[in-house]
Amino acid sequence: MSNAPLPSPDPVLAPLDSMLPDLESLYKDVHSHPELSMQEKRTGALAAERLRAAGFDVTTGLGGTGVVGVLRNGEGPTVMLRADMDALPVQEATGLPYASTVTATDRTGHTVPVSHMCGHDMHVTWLAGASRLLADARPAWRGTLLAVFQPAEETAEGAKAMIADGLLERFPKPDVVLGQHVMVGPAGMVAGRPGAITSAADSLQIRLFGRGAHGSMPQASIDPVVMAAATVMRLQGIVSREVAAAEAAVVTIGALQAGTKENVIPDEALIKLNVRTFDEGVRARVLAAIERIVNAEAEGSGAPRKPEITVLDHYPLNRNDLEASEKLVAAFRAYFGAERVRETGPAPTSEDFGSFGTDWHTPSVFWFVGGTDPRVYAQAKRENRLQELPVNHSPKFAPVLHPTLRTGVEALVVAARAWMPA
Ligand code: ZN
Ligand code: ZN
Repeated sequence: MSNAPLPSPDPVLAPLDSMLPDLESLYKDVHSHPELSMQEKRTGALAAERLRAAGFDVTTGLGGTGVVGVLRNGEGPTVMLRADMDALPVQEATGLPYASTVTATDRTGHTVPVSHMCGHDMHVTWLAGASRLLADARPAWRGTLLAVFQPAEETAEGAKAMIADGLLERFPKPDVVLGQHVMVGPAGMVAGRPGAITSAADSLQIRLFGRGAHGSMPQASIDPVVMAAATVMRLQGIVSREVAAAEAAVVTIGALQAGTKENVIPDEALIKLNVRTFDEGVRARVLAAIERIVNAEAEGSGAPRKPEITVLDHYPLNRNDLEASEKLVAAFRAYFGAERVRETGPAPTSEDFGSFGTDWHTPSVFWFVGGTDPRVYAQAKRENRLQELPVNHSPKFAPVLHPTLRTGVEALVVAARAWMPA
């Protein structure tokens, strides 16, 4: 593959090199002070402070801890750049010198470890850097820049909360909504695709009702443990038997709970499951199949009551606008060189990013930025061990700082500049 020289850099990006040490310390600060979903007070305050210093009009506390910065710079399109800010209830095991040792109280009152194992600390830093660069180079572009730092992506609440709190009414409507996520992939690369980019996700809780009895007298029971076990096995058949090879879906049972003692048959069992799909039709079929199987297994067991199926959360399908994707890929190729811009399959992860474009009725594009040391990635690929690299949400997820930091800032600026003319 040819190693074509990069086109002459955008003047907006010229100061990036000298800015990197400051961005690195911001990243480490956010990384070692992670906050749970809807608790992003400190992170939001850092974002707001950065935006104010760069000359943005700043609104804080939107949808809880959300922050919106507006920079009006003459006639021209409005571009929204989005970063999410929340961390996860995971004990960090990266061994990094700036690893998190933070704990916090979650909604149920439990003390939990907290860490940025999805990389939203990187997203905050990227957007802080890109906002500053664009603000400092106002003669180089025209339009309105909207920098949105959203809370609670991990719980699918943040985008909705900001929209419910008046985001669409209080701020100029963007011509495009842009966002990015750090992922496993060679650092220095960006990857995306037109159409579905992240999956729809549906989490369900299923209560199966039986009849408890002494463990020695199963004939007196309707055993919810057996009912749950049969249900779990049968649910595995949905993806393998009901979804076509060219379609894709994931059904994962993440929790299966019943009983407390070896000689007591309990009254009920609980299943919690998660579904990922890339197409509305497939989604509807998979959800209907779950309901059908759950009810049939309960009936087959002679359950005294129909199972109770509750929706725990839902992330919409995140679909990249075709025209906007084309424009973005052209800008990325011109800046990064074609060999650093990859087309990827849709990711089975989910995102509430799609809500901004959908609710505002405006195109949106979401892409991935590699965070894996390129040598580590290449070696894992050679040895067919890519699946062993720590992925987002793993306690060992640790993006390499360089060039991940730089690439993410560059990608945001290049993307914004594709819409905002000189
Ligand atoms: Zn995540
Ligand atoms: Zn994430």
